[in-house]
Amino acid sequence: MSAGLPFFRYHPDPLASGSIRASAETCACCGRATGWIYTATFYTADEVGGRFCPWCIADGSAAERFAGEFTDSYGFDGVGEDVVHEVTRRTPGFHAWQDPRWLVHCHDAAAFVGEVGYTELAVHPDALDQLRADLRIEGWNDEDRLERFLTHLGEGATAMLFRCTVCGTHLAYTDAS
Ligand SMILES: [Zn+2]
Ligand SMILES: [Zn+2]
Repeated sequence: MSAGLPFFRYHPDPLASGSIRASAETCACCGRATGWIYTATFYTADEVGGRFCPWCIADGSAAERFAGEFTDSYGFDGVGEDVVHEVTRRTPGFHAWQDPRWLVHCHDAAAFVGEVGYTELAVHPDALDQLRADLRIEGWNDEDRLERFLTHLGEGATAMLFRCTVCGTHLAYTDAS
């Protein structure tokens, strides 16, 4: 991690993922120009006059003040409520075509690594195997077509890569416009 940003257990490198970037913008929550701004999703019914700095995400003040969530709390099956709160209210979300979803493993939220293509995925055969299994369940019966889809990830469709914070297994799901 660089630049003395707060540490996010479930999104350890938000600069690499592009969710936080260098900016002279003022934070919509604390009003400070910290040099960094959050660029991804925030769900709220309130009017928010701008974007947030990483510190107002980390301490929960942005989510509390604007009664919002950075990630939808749907889909955290078998995960403790404190973890769900940490991910949805104190962790930067990420950019995706579809509504972002957070993967879980070992009864804990996984850490978001980033949006990747086949080259990055191939380094993590565990994630690739799990994607293959998921796609078969979704009805991809033609193995040639399935492999072609996987090897072309990064061109159009991409994969969202996570790493289990408990056992280190890599997981992914596919995203497309
Ligand atoms: Zn702030
Ligand atoms: Zn695990």
